[in-house]
Amino acid sequence: MLRFRMKSPLFLLLSVSFSYAFPMHPGNKSEEQNVQLVQEYLEQFYELEHEPKLQAWKSRNSLEDKIQQMQEFFQLNVTGKADADTLAVMQQPRCGMPDIASFVLALPGWSKTKLTYRILNYTPDMKAADVDRAIHRAFDVWSAVTPLTFTRIHQGAADLKIAFATGVHGRCPKPFGGALPALAHAFPPGYPFRGNVHFNEDYNWAADSDTEVNDAPYLMRFNLFLVAAHEIGHALGLAHSNDPQALMFPYFKSTLSVDFPLAQDDIDGIQAIYGPSPHPPKEPAKPTLPKACDPKTSFDAVTTLRQEVMFLKGKHYWRVYPSLSEVNYELISTFWPSLPSGIQAAYENMNDQVLFFKDNRFWVLSGLQMEPGYPKTINHLGFPQSIKKIDAAAFDKNTGKTYFFVGNQYWRYDENSRSMDGGYPRKTRDDFPGIGPKVDAAFQHNGFFYFFHKSKQWEFDLNDKRVTRVMKSNSWLNC
Ligand SMILES: [Zn+2]
Ligand SMILES: [Zn+2]
Repeated sequence: MLRFRMKSPLFLLLSVSFSYAFPMHPGNKSEEQNVQLVQEYLEQFYELEHEPKLQAWKSRNSLEDKIQQMQEFFQLNVTGKADADTLAVMQQPRCGMPDIASFVLALPGWSKTKLTYRILNYTPDMKAADVDRAIHRAFDVWSAVTPLTFTRIHQGAADLKIAFATGVHGRCPKPFGGALPALAHAFPPGYPFRGNVHFNEDYNWAADSDTEVNDAPYLMRFNLFLVAAHEIGHALGLAHSNDPQALMFPYFKSTLSVDFPLAQDDIDGIQAIYGPSPHPPKEPAKPTLPKACDPKTSFDAVTTLRQEVMFLKGKHYWRVYPSLSEVNYELISTFWPSLPSGIQAAYENMNDQVLFFKDNRFWVLSGLQMEPGYPKTINHLGFPQSIKKIDAAAFDKNTGKTYFFVGNQYWRYDENSRSMDGGYPRKTRDDFPGIGPKVDAAFQHNGFFYFFHKSKQWEFDLNDKRVTRVMKSNSWLNC
C-alpha cells in the first residue's frame, strides 16, 4: 500500500514549486529524494493527503502546514520549509506510528486489565532467551504503573501479538519499506489490527548486554527492550509524545534508562487511560549527591569555561578553579535552564564559546549566554547523518583544531575555517597511543590533553604523542 508513486503529477509539481524549500542537501540525497522523503514522511506521520489532483496553491498550503506541524512537534524552528534541521530529523529511523492521527483523539483503552501476550516468532539477531527477556521486561515497564497484568501464552489467541517481519507482512496494513523504513509499529485498542506489535527485521536488534548498542551508534543496532516498551505503549493506547525525554517520543534514544525508561509524561498518559497501579512501588529514594571522591567517579563531559573547568555528570557539574584548588557542585539548570541534563561532550573554542553536545544536537554558550537558535543537529558541523552522538570533544588552543571522539574513532574540526578536516575519521588508538580505545570526556589544560574513560584519566602530550601520566578521573576534585 505504498501510496507514493515516483512520477505522479504531484511529485513533479512539488519538485518545481518547492525547490526553494531545500537550501541544503544533507547526506547524499538528491533534491528529488528529499522531496519524496518529505512527502512520504508527512503522509505517514502527519496525515498529509495524497491527492494528485490538488490545485498547486492548495497542495503548497497543506504541505507547508504539515511541515509546520512537524516542526512544532519536534520544537524545531517553525519555517514551514524542509530546511536542513527538518530533513535531518526526518531521515532518522523512527517508530512507524503517526505523530498526529484521528485515532489518538478517542482512545478507549483495553476494557480489561488482565491481558495476554504471545511471541509469534524470533529475530536471528538475538538469542531467543534474550528476546523473551526483553519483551517480558517491556511489559513490566507498564504493569509497574497501572493495574494491567500481562501473561504470556504459547498458543491460541492472545490480546497482544509480538512479531518480527519485513516488507509487506501478512495482512498488516502498514508494510515496512519505502524511503522511510520504520523500526516498528503497533496498533492501539479500538483499531482494526489492535494488539499487533511488529518489529522491522531489516534493522538489527540487540539485548541490553550488547554493549555496542550504546557505544557504537553508527552500527545502528537497536535495543529491543526499549523499542518494545515504546510499541507496547501504543498497543495499550498511547500516542506519541513531543517530550524528548519521554519513552513515547517517536525517535528511539539509546540514552533512555534501561532500568526505568518512563518519563512523567508517559506515566501521566497511561494512568489517564487505566489509572494508577493498586500496588505503587515505594517512593524512589531521593538521588544522593554523587560523591566526588568515590574511586568510581566518572564524567559525562569536561570542558574549560574561562578560568574554570566544568566536570559534567547527569544534571550536575563540578566547577573547579585549578589555580585556587576550589571545587563547587552545581545544578546545570541553575545557570543554563535551556541545557538538558546528560550532556555527552563539551568544549570551549577560542571565541569565548562553549559547545555542548547531547545525542545528535548541540547548544552554544557564547560570552556566558546561551545563543538563541539552538540546538542544531551536528551535521551542521560536518558530521555524517550516521553519527548519532559525540562521546567527547577537546579544543587544541595551539592549532585551533577541535577533536571529536566517537566510539573508537575521532574527527578533527578546524575552528578557523569552520569545517571538518579531510581524511577523518581516524582510529583513536593510532594517533593517541595509550588511551582509549573509547573516551568519555576530554579537555586541554596547560598544553596537555586530559582524557577520561570511566574512573580512569590519561594526561597526554600532543607533541610527543604519548601518555605522560595515568590518574583517577576525580584527581581534579581535591580528592
Ligand atoms: Zn511510536
Ligand atoms: Zn505490521
